Amino acid sequence: MTAEVHVCQHCDEPITDPDDAVLVSQEAGNSGPGWNVWAHSAHVGQLEMHPVAVRVMARILLARIFPRGG
Ligand SMILES: [Zn+2]
Repeated sequence: MTAEVHVCQHCDEPITDPDDAVLVSQEAGNSGPGWNVWAHSAHVGQLEMHPVAVRVMARILLARIFPRGG
């Protein structure tokens, strides 16, 4: 059985201690089950702006402005 290793959204380092992994947000995939975003418990406080959510919103807005701009 392989343990799933999460990667910290803040520092991009693997979170080796499961007790240190904090679920920051969940992204819905366009054609899949989506995925979770994790961060070290010590780094959650540095993700106040929820950069992933901001990135998703930007992506949606850009898709509306440039429908086929790829
Ligand atoms: Zn981290």
